[in-house]
Amino acid sequence: MGDSSIMSEYVEEDKKGHLILKKGSFSPSRLKTLEACKWQYELKYNRNIYPDQTIVEPHSQLGSAMHDFAEKYNGSGDPRHIALLEHQSKSKYTLTDSQIEELKFMIDNLVNNIWPELEGKGEEKFKIQSVKTEANLRGNITLPGNDGRYRSVPLNLKIDRLIEREDGKVVIVDYKKGQPNVASHMFQLLFYVTTYSQRNRRNVSDIDIWLVFPNEKKNWVRKVTGEELQELVSDFESNMAEKFDTIENEAPFNENDATPSFLCNFCPFKATNMCPTSLVLHGAENPEGKNMTFHVSKFEKGKRVKTPVSPEEVLSKSSLW
Ligand code: SF4
Repeated sequence: MGDSSIMSEYVEEDKKGHLILKKGSFSPSRLKTLEACKWQYELKYNRNIYPDQTIVEPHSQLGSAMHDFAEKYNGSGDPRHIALLEHQSKSKYTLTDSQIEELKFMIDNLVNNIWPELEGKGEEKFKIQSVKTEANLRGNITLPGNDGRYRSVPLNLKIDRLIEREDGKVVIVDYKKGQPNVASHMFQLLFYVTTYSQRNRRNVSDIDIWLVFPNEKKNWVRKVTGEELQELVSDFESNMAEKFDTIENEAPFNENDATPSFLCNFCPFKATNMCPTSLVLHGAENPEGKNMTFHVSKFEKGKRVKTPVSPEEVLSKSSLW
């Protein structure tokens, strides 16, 4: 058990005696960060430090353009036209010609093959009750800990496509790009299933997952049935409870907890003085890091307040947070 001052900063008890997280909500990316690099976690989620510049990783642009299309396409008009307008007129994405071709392929696949099958117009026939895109899933889920106490974990998630069928089945759809590897996405998917089943009081066995790879020419879907998910959910819950306990017992983290991994590629703190470990790898003279500026973002009296912060203040344990 951590000391009581740490308990009061990160975790408190609710009226039912459940432990609750005081700062923000859990998300798959938050917990992946906690697992991969506790220093990045500390900077992002405990100290709320953000870069002033928006960092868009070039290789994630195509996936984002496809998600945008899938969210906004309402079944009318020329889908290719809509998608191209989307990224060109708003200059939101800078896709190469070959990426635009790939985007067209994915859109064709969604419109002509994937969505009809999801809605019971493919080989398997069924009727649907509702289809929601970018469905919000918010609220607390309850996790049993090994010590007999419950943890109440706030989550704020979005599901790419949520389909409720007339036969009582719920299908959670998640679009992915790249190699169709189900195992690597399971952690995120179990978040969705656990949250949906707890928030809507549904049995896990009623929920199927469709992991959809629109870039695949065939075999673009991997299905995980509710029966398969049932076994995985209890492992997931104890895994989550352990992560919750890490925050309770080990936070705050410090720069000695920096752990270089592939995640450094996506980390805003790489090649800056905020991460001494990454400086060794990326070099203090790296222009990418030298040009970065940061702020602390906090809610005060219902308003978001941004305060500039320097790497020196971060490392000198300034009282900004
Ligand atoms: S650059 Fe790498 S080691 Fe440094 S904080 Fe980011 S993820 Fe951690």
